[in-house]
Amino acid sequence: MGTVPGAHRSAAIRSPATPVEAGVLDAPLSGGAIDLGKQAPKKLAEVGIKTYRDLLHHLPRRYEDRRVLPGSGSLTDGANATVVGEVVSRVGTRSRRGLHVFRAVLRADDGGRLTAVWFNQPWLEKQVFPGLRLIVTGKVKAVGRNVELAAAGHEIDDDSESLSFGRIVGVYPTTQGLSQAYLRRSLRRLLDALGAIPDHLQRSLLERYDLVPADRAWRQAHFPDSESDLNAAVRRLKFDDFLFFELAVMRSRDPLRLGRSFTVAPADVEEFMGRLPFTLTGAQQRALAEIFGDMAAPRQMARLLQGDVGSGKTAVAAAAVYVAVRNGAQAALMAPTEILARQHLANLRPYLFELGVRTELFIGAMTNAERTAARARLAAGETDLAIGTQALIQEGVAFRDLGLAIVDEEHRFGVQQRRALLQGLPDVLVMSATPIPRSLALTVYGDLELTVIDELPPGRKPVKTRLVNAGKRLEVYRFVAEQVASGRQAYVVTPLIEESEALDEVLAATGLADDLAQILPAGVRLGMLHGRMATADKDDVMERFRRRELDVLVSTTVIEVGVDVPNATVMVIENAERFGLSQLHQLRGRVGRGAHESYCVLVAGDRSRKTQQRLDIMVKNADGFAIAEFDLRLRGPGDLRGTRQSGLPELTIGDLVEDVTIIEEARGLAKQMLEADPELAAPWAQRLTVELRRRSSAVMIREVI
Ligand code: ADP
Ligand code: MG
Repeated sequence: MGTVPGAHRSAAIRSPATPVEAGVLDAPLSGGAIDLGKQAPKKLAEVGIKTYRDLLHHLPRRYEDRRVLPGSGSLTDGANATVVGEVVSRVGTRSRRGLHVFRAVLRADDGGRLTAVWFNQPWLEKQVFPGLRLIVTGKVKAVGRNVELAAAGHEIDDDSESLSFGRIVGVYPTTQGLSQAYLRRSLRRLLDALGAIPDHLQRSLLERYDLVPADRAWRQAHFPDSESDLNAAVRRLKFDDFLFFELAVMRSRDPLRLGRSFTVAPADVEEFMGRLPFTLTGAQQRALAEIFGDMAAPRQMARLLQGDVGSGKTAVAAAAVYVAVRNGAQAALMAPTEILARQHLANLRPYLFELGVRTELFIGAMTNAERTAARARLAAGETDLAIGTQALIQEGVAFRDLGLAIVDEEHRFGVQQRRALLQGLPDVLVMSATPIPRSLALTVYGDLELTVIDELPPGRKPVKTRLVNAGKRLEVYRFVAEQVASGRQAYVVTPLIEESEALDEVLAATGLADDLAQILPAGVRLGMLHGRMATADKDDVMERFRRRELDVLVSTTVIEVGVDVPNATVMVIENAERFGLSQLHQLRGRVGRGAHESYCVLVAGDRSRKTQQRLDIMVKNADGFAIAEFDLRLRGPGDLRGTRQSGLPELTIGDLVEDVTIIEEARGLAKQMLEADPELAAPWAQRLTVELRRRSSAVMIREVI
């Protein structure tokens, strides 16, 4: 083969008619395979872009519809608008209170003038000068005969290619020195030079899930032709995000985790149901059907049973225990504290005792003799259900035949500890009372199947929730005193003011307890809990509260989740604005567990509208899942309890709340793919595997089992 003259020439003079193959995507910008301008490698590195793929994946944070920009005359007061104009004059001033105000008078293309106003951005004085063309987005305010625009964002229009208006425009994450127009131009050049981006999904799959091809998705995500093109592009990119996340999670599990195959005998189920003092709710029945399905299958069960406090998870778990025991196996339930272990025992016994299930409690507080005897019964198979804390998985504890392990997820067992319990590969049911939105649960617990009990048993009385300002504290505690006088009990919770200072937690608790000792009538018995106390001391205080030796429990920690004191009817939360909504919901769930009317009082430490609006969600909503969704929208997934260390996929454009359907589809497809070819080695999976490897390096997965 002869050499082609000029074949070695740099890409800078390559004709645009010859597309560069997508293989170039992983090359560094500095290699110049596609010419983006001399400065590009250095400038784009400022936002972490080093390769062409980095650039391609640098997606807009949001989009603005600039297809029709209003003339200066047609701006309506109060509306959001984007205008283009030339700076005629500009001035920066500082108000007496130190606020920096920057004003620029713009001449719009239709000749009209308006003033754009920025607050506290003094650097604009060095950036915005007469003669410059600006694109400004913000809220329109008519001031007399003048029009002002309170700038929410602006761009310097150095855009000869007009990528920045007359279309739907992506607004990119960037830094000060790197303009939107520059990013858009770089992307335009990349996409123009780049040949078709190959797809890792076959056409039949695209059709089945109604997805646009990858090539189209990437191009339209950067430069959408229309809203529907944009939506289709975003949908495709999200689908891929979730697909690769699910594949990574599923592949990290043992491919051949065979567990036990239980026989779910209808007679046993009927026997259990027949003794229940109620009929299961529809949600409980669905949950049980799923659990029984898993138990009957040869594969090891790994299921998360999620349901709000009081939704009836215990009854469902008890049924699973009974089926396991009828198969001759043993069951274990692990709880975070002794109190909760005791409480689980007390809750489960009524379901199981009369059916002949032999239960045993394993806690730290046993004497040596008790412990030895209990261990012997467990090893001999004379115990059917062992309930306990850490003590359950200590050395020397051996089951004869553990078939079902139930883990109270409020307890974060260490990986080693879980391994110890799971050696015999029992079926595993994780229970959680934390209502996290389904979409988030599917991602955080990617390695667990999810069952949600989304319905409360009939006749539950909602907790009356009030929002008051700190000024009304005395009235609040007068009410607490009344409740105590009529025989009820109350919780008072205060947030940590300074989490970093260990001592402050003690101070906050003692400070509040001292305060309450002054406010509340003499004779009201106060107890105190804080996170610096030893577990045994905490358990002791909780136990005394449970036995009604204390009337009011003051706490800086979230009161042991799941503790059940039906006589407690009031939950006062000080500085409620400092808690997340989901946390507030958990706290509120501590009351309303008995026959008495129950109350939750949120004391707001500030009067800001934002605080009022946020806390009002608590007043208006009783459903934990709805509240969790508000929480997710307001704070983002990173702040939700238990998700911090989760290594969520990099959801570049995902909005978890709205993505449930996509997540479920992607999860379903991932499952099918792995069932068809566990190693993903088949020809159809080639590109998929490459992409998976590329993306997996960025994903860490929380290990639940
Ligand atoms: P969870 O474990 O989800 O907090 P529990 O299983 O402890 O909830 O149930 C809470 C209360 O509701 C218990 O007193 C239980 O007896 C009762 N309960 C559970 N399921 C039902 C039902 N289907 N109908 C009526 N009451 C129920
Ligand atoms: Mg319970």
